[in-house]
Amino acid sequence: MPRPSFPRSLSEFQSWFGTDDACLRYLIESRWPDGYLCPRCGHGEAYELATRAVLKCRKCDYQSSATAGTVLHGTRVSIRQWFWAASLVATYTPGISAVQLQRQLGITRYETAWAMLQKLRRAMVRPERDRLTGLVEVDDAYVGGLEEGRRGGRQRESGKALVVAAVEIRGRGSGRVRLGVVEDVSGNSLGGFVQGAVEPGSVVFTDGWMGYVPLRKKGYDHRPKTQGAAENAAKILPRVHRIFSNLKTWLMGTHHGVGRKHLPHYLNEFVFRFNRRRTPMAAFQTLLGLTGQHPPTTYKMLYRGESTG
Ligand SMILES: [Zn+2]
Repeated sequence: MPRPSFPRSLSEFQSWFGTDDACLRYLIESRWPDGYLCPRCGHGEAYELATRAVLKCRKCDYQSSATAGTVLHGTRVSIRQWFWAASLVATYTPGISAVQLQRQLGITRYETAWAMLQKLRRAMVRPERDRLTGLVEVDDAYVGGLEEGRRGGRQRESGKALVVAAVEIRGRGSGRVRLGVVEDVSGNSLGGFVQGAVEPGSVVFTDGWMGYVPLRKKGYDHRPKTQGAAENAAKILPRVHRIFSNLKTWLMGTHHGVGRKHLPHYLNEFVFRFNRRRTPMAAFQTLLGLTGQHPPTTYKMLYRGESTG
């Protein structure tokens, strides 16, 4: 049995996920597409104690929680509100702020909405493991704070971080993207990012910066494009330039700027949504932890600033 599909519109979403009970059913079908098995005795029949989201084995009476291991386990927020939050985060293109989430879902406390958003963001960390392949554009830029500038010998201002982006060239469009924060524009920093993000043997297009020169030695088919003025960046590396432009707009518009410390999490969110822009169902299920590949983030970890990835 395949996992259940995903609603195609907001009104479909509303009718599928109108009640906690309907959400719970969907959750169970997503987590156990081949049918629930008792974790203790392996028996395949269970009673559903739906109100408590508990599955009780018909043979040995062992009880297990349907939400254990998912993002919504052990929270006081209703399963329905989690479904709506994950849907908004997965599909709403510019992303969503804690204030917007609080308003949209009618959540009383801002802190609750903030914590939900943080948990959903943590679920975005792990799936990005495969490296990019084929033809890839790579560039770097300062991001964060109130103003951004390109490298260009300018000094780094406080609060800004140097971000490197890699994006696959797919015809006239873009494939997957990877983003990372690096310390500086040295060959070590830039090369280290590329090695983590792009499969060796790929064709890598960059500008003429010397920090990219060692890429050839590291096994890449490096093709630097020399540029004149900084304004030409949009022409020689159009896709990666568009990524930076969208990223900066999103950070400023939705979040009113993001400090260095929290930037990596926002980069994860941007990459997660960008790479799943054509598969919102997969994004939604991953966020809620319904795919079973991601351990849940506890509130304790959240406040210590740890990641489960
Ligand atoms: Zn059992």
